[in-house]
Amino acid sequence: MADRNLTYHEEMVSRDKKSWLYGHSSCVLWFTGLSGSGKSTLANALERKLFDMGCKTHLLDGDNVRMGLNSDLGFSPEDREENIRRIGEVANLFKNSGTITLTAFISPYHKDRERARTACGDNFFEIHVAAPLETCEARDPKGLYKKARAGVIKGFTGIDAPYEEPLDPALYLDTSIKDVDKCCEEIINLLIGKGIIDKPQEISVLDKRRTIALDFDGVIHAYSKGFQGLDNVYDEPHVGALEGISALSELGYRLIVVSSRPVPAIQKWLTKHSIDHYFEEITNIKRPAKHYIDDHGYRFEKGNVNSWPQVLEMIIGEKND
Ligand code: ADP
Repeated sequence: MADRNLTYHEEMVSRDKKSWLYGHSSCVLWFTGLSGSGKSTLANALERKLFDMGCKTHLLDGDNVRMGLNSDLGFSPEDREENIRRIGEVANLFKNSGTITLTAFISPYHKDRERARTACGDNFFEIHVAAPLETCEARDPKGLYKKARAGVIKGFTGIDAPYEEPLDPALYLDTSIKDVDKCCEEIINLLIGKGIIDKPQEISVLDKRRTIALDFDGVIHAYSKGFQGLDNVYDEPHVGALEGISALSELGYRLIVVSSRPVPAIQKWLTKHSIDHYFEEITNIKRPAKHYIDDHGYRFEKGNVNSWPQVLEMIIGEKND
């Protein structure tokens, strides 16, 4: 690199720091398979589920990338190779940004996928979306097989160009026998198994009835100066919060903190104020609960010293009904 005057800069904010902030690790999920096998459908459905779980995600999808970054490339063997090479490099950049990165490209050649694996380094998971050719051809979502059979498109994977199956994929999903939900479930289990995301906690109906979810800022943490940065927890407890939390706990409620702040920042602050033991969970994801105590719903306006007593009155009153 020296002859081109390039210097690699080490990041000041490491990937570990980003994982800490986002509450999950990052990876590349490389979907590969025949056209019509279901890569795009699965990647989109999975991204939606991960988004709902509060994960930071990005999907690089075939045509979208070809319309932008790779608009200068065609379908010659060299251009196809360059297409996948660039996608591998971009996927790596996204992974290093702390993102769960999904790519959905046919990527028919073993050599090209291996190159992407090398570009991405750790946490690269190849997912073989495998439906038999007959199924893909019957689906023909974009009418491409028809054109390939008619000779309008030349060099079409599966018809007159080869598809080299992954030898040892992280996951093999036959979409002709597994529906979209089942496939997504298997990928989520892979992410849990590889330590990328945590297992979502399930809350039973019984748990929901005894759960109270508390917003952190403006309810527990006084938050008198407004937003000062996600991990800058600068203030004292909200007036009445310590007594209120202890009272709710004594009533037998299961208390959880739901906030967009990094979990360790909240944990540290709760420990400092010796109230961490009251909480069963601190999470960035909304959980089923009987009550959500947030600063809007319960009028935790600035300076309103009555907020906590009002909350208690309401909840205790209900308990005695
Ligand atoms: P690709 O991105 O691999 O070219 P698409 O996702 O565009 O494939 O198309 C796959 C088609 O197969 C869609 O019409 C989708 O609705 C259908 N399909 C049926 N079952 C499944 C499944 N289990 N997983 C994914 N797609 C499925």
